[in-house]
Amino acid sequence: MKAIRVHAFGGPDVLKLEEISALQPAAGQVLVKIHAAGVNPADTYARTGNYAVLPQLPYTPGTDGAGVVDSIGAGVTKVKSGDRVYVAKSLSGTYAEYALALESQVHRLPENVSFAQGAGVFIPYGTAYHALHHQAKAHGRETVLIHGASGGVGTASIQIARALGLTVFGTAGTAKGLDLIKREAVHQAFDHSRAGYQENILKATGGKGVDIILEMLANVNLGADLKLLAQYGRVIVIGSRGDVTITPRDIMSRRGAILAFTLWAITDAEASDIHAGLIAGLENGTLRPVVGSELPLKDAAQSHIDVMKPSGAAGKIVLIP
Ligand code: NAP
Repeated sequence: MKAIRVHAFGGPDVLKLEEISALQPAAGQVLVKIHAAGVNPADTYARTGNYAVLPQLPYTPGTDGAGVVDSIGAGVTKVKSGDRVYVAKSLSGTYAEYALALESQVHRLPENVSFAQGAGVFIPYGTAYHALHHQAKAHGRETVLIHGASGGVGTASIQIARALGLTVFGTAGTAKGLDLIKREAVHQAFDHSRAGYQENILKATGGKGVDIILEMLANVNLGADLKLLAQYGRVIVIGSRGDVTITPRDIMSRRGAILAFTLWAITDAEASDIHAGLIAGLENGTLRPVVGSELPLKDAAQSHIDVMKPSGAAGKIVLIP
């Protein structure tokens, strides 16, 4: 089988397409024929070797994927050969023709969802779901600002927040991204590349501030976010790529909170909530993963360059084996 292999941590050029031995599912394991693999920023952090959760070298990257069950090991009852599934973490990595996963790591992919869309389910939608439901404990009467709404997590967050009934503000930094988030039905779109856009967000709330901020770039925005919060508002830090200075009094005077998490550390109970909610939302059409670009597996290096561009996101990047 073909797989992307990393033999040394480094730049995108360490991602090599190689022929490796076929995989066999042991007891409790599932072998999935991967039809599409999702590319996430975290895949690039791991590839550099500078990240909290590092794989052992050599390894095949990729946490997200979708495909068809090829074969199952002894004792597996959740899925059978031929079932459509999405993969949420795996034992062998998803940037490959096949991936080996634990039974608990595969989930039913509804018929109405393409494999390319399925490759964009776990990390983007799992993160958005966890941020809104478990961290923010969002209510339909509230207003959310999705700060970085045009990417994988952002578009997932728009759809989940809209389904919950919130008033949804979103930001993007390009005309393409702004078009996308308007199509995804944010109530108001703001351009985070324009000086002073935060004042317009505050004006849009009548000066009251927003109840929840989902923050994709905390090192740039956290200080200003605190000045946009309503009383009892919460900032949920999802992404950050450096340090930031904040003014604690901004949050004290609002009785606000800064919450943060990584999807790697969710509990089994939270994971069960997430997959139940996501499968239901995919099935009933509330959740519709937006695929921005599809690249062949051999172009994994290019996909890592694309996903780390500072601006210009428009949905998910997926690799097709
Ligand atoms: P993505 O698809 O590459 O999207 C990045 C988003 O950030 C785009 O919407 C982009 O907007 C936006 N952005 C760029 N400059 C910004 C600015 N100055 N202010 C606000 N937003 C800005 O990435 P993703 O998959 O959505 O992930 C987003 C972040 O969350 C990444 O840092 C990722 O590592 C992190 N993340 C964390 C977890 C976790 O467990 N905590 C899970 C998933 C992702 P434009 O391109 O339109 O400018």
